[in-house]
Amino acid sequence: MADSKVIVITGASSGIGEAIAKKQAAAGDKIVLGARREENLKQIKADIEAGGGQAEYLVTDVTDVEQVKALAQKAMDAYGRIDVWINNAGLMPHSLLIDARIDDWNRMIDVNLKGTLYGIAAAQHIFHDQNTGHFINLGSVASLYSHAGGAVYSATKWAVKAISESLREEEAQAGKNVRVTSLYPGAIESELVANMTDSKRREATAEFYKNFAIPAERIAQIVNDVLNMPTDTTLNEIVVRPTTQVQ
Ligand code: NDP
Repeated sequence: MADSKVIVITGASSGIGEAIAKKQAAAGDKIVLGARREENLKQIKADIEAGGGQAEYLVTDVTDVEQVKALAQKAMDAYGRIDVWINNAGLMPHSLLIDARIDDWNRMIDVNLKGTLYGIAAAQHIFHDQNTGHFINLGSVASLYSHAGGAVYSATKWAVKAISESLREEEAQAGKNVRVTSLYPGAIESELVANMTDSKRREATAEFYKNFAIPAERIAQIVNDVLNMPTDTTLNEIVVRPTTQVQ
């Protein structure tokens, strides 16, 4: 893998995606930011450039496979390669199943699950052509346990875990030097909770996050460590919680 890597990040307009973008840009990597909010993307690109780094962005809705492929093409046009693809876009509108908030269920399935698959579809052939690449997929501790109010979020994040493990095995068999890492964070400061739609759940979760959440830069630090492993070695699955978080 090149010393200065080209890194595509979905959901790069806030939170964990933004933190990874800024950390890796400061480390000398070239960043391609994808998300829907153009103002945020423009500002993050400007912040990176003000620090002497390089970044491009493309307004991207990960529920549209053509837009995700266009994000990959943007990286190829700008920098000629993709070394790392981070499937990070996600949302967590928790609710009880009895409330049948079907729009929220569909959005989580479309963004968290199908968006991850679309990212794989956009980058995997490029990785094979290059004979190198690295997928980093954002699961969650909700990939590992499920609780009342979190059924559909957990279902999508369990799916991310399942897809990542199959992808890892397929890539190991293919022998194309493609690494696969899934991250399972606990409570991390970001806009995830503010975007919950059920106000009671949002308030309760916000209180929990106020007490326990750690900064998004912690995840960026872990991604940096993951990327700096020798290329013959992959950190496949990483669970990271605030030290005081019980579940
Ligand atoms: P944020 O809400 O801050 O970031 C979510 C990102 O996803 C935003 O950039 C948003 O951008 C993007 N996004 C949402 N919908 C779409 C879409 N349709 N197309 C493209 N981008 C989209 O939360 P986090 O940074 O916390 O979340 C990042 C990932 O980390 C998620 O997958 C989340 O599930 C996971 N995670 C977070 C944890 C936490 O405690 N914060 C814990 C465990 C996992 P825009 O609205 O501009 O499109």
